[in-house]
Amino acid sequence: THFGFRDVPTRDKQKLVEEVFSSVAGSYDLMNDLMSMGIHRIWKRFFVATAQVKRGDRVLDLAGGTGDIALLLKDRVGDTGSIVLGDINGAMLRVGRDRMTDKGKVAGFEYVQMNAEKLPFPDASFDLVTIAFGLRNVTDKDAALAEMHRVLKVGGQARVLEFSEVKPEWFKPIYDFHSFKILPRLGQLFARDADSYQYLAESIRKHPPQDELKAMMERAGFARCSYRNMSAGIVAIHTGYKV
Ligand code: SAM
Repeated sequence: THFGFRDVPTRDKQKLVEEVFSSVAGSYDLMNDLMSMGIHRIWKRFFVATAQVKRGDRVLDLAGGTGDIALLLKDRVGDTGSIVLGDINGAMLRVGRDRMTDKGKVAGFEYVQMNAEKLPFPDASFDLVTIAFGLRNVTDKDAALAEMHRVLKVGGQARVLEFSEVKPEWFKPIYDFHSFKILPRLGQLFARDADSYQYLAESIRKHPPQDELKAMMERAGFARCSYRNMSAGIVAIHTGYKV
């Protein structure tokens, strides 16, 4: 791309991600709606509606942030199921917990501050593990995928919802313009924070594209790995199983 990158050394990435999400926590939900024109809600609904999950299941939603995925998952696991919302960032977790409590959703949710690279759970603890718009921010993605595999029960599913590589050539310049010109301006206007939204656009471009992420999941031990693009590859859902 002709918009250029700022290169962030690996050792500083976790600190940068920490600053970005502490800064955006309060405006995170509004910004998602503005930047995607509400479409992120459809992606998330589809992600959860097509997940392998049933009543009574125990689910881990990694990088759960303000809880969009956890809320949708709760409907699927019912009163007998439970959701653990895990995130490395205390500010994001607090916004999530307050939001759920305001909606009267208390029973069946746990909030745990954790790094996806090193999960504080024994092997085979969950029926489903999800991570939505989170893997991109994790420094050691291989470690996170291996941990997702470890904490799954045999037969369980892992699902990743993440920005990916847009497919049609004609769409790429439009997408770049939106990412590098419009996003930072929306960030400045509504969240007084252009830098965080510049980070967002850059982190999307650096994230492994569809086939590469699929190969990473296979290396982490997942079986029957596959992916499905949505919105021309702006996002993709990757699925793998523990067998
Ligand atoms: N899943 C939510 C959603 O779809 O709206 C939130 C996604 S938000 C873009 C990314 C989240 O990843 C942030 O809340 C951030 O704190 C979290 N995160 C970043 N690095 C992480 C890590 N290493 N382990 C766990 N969470 C992490």
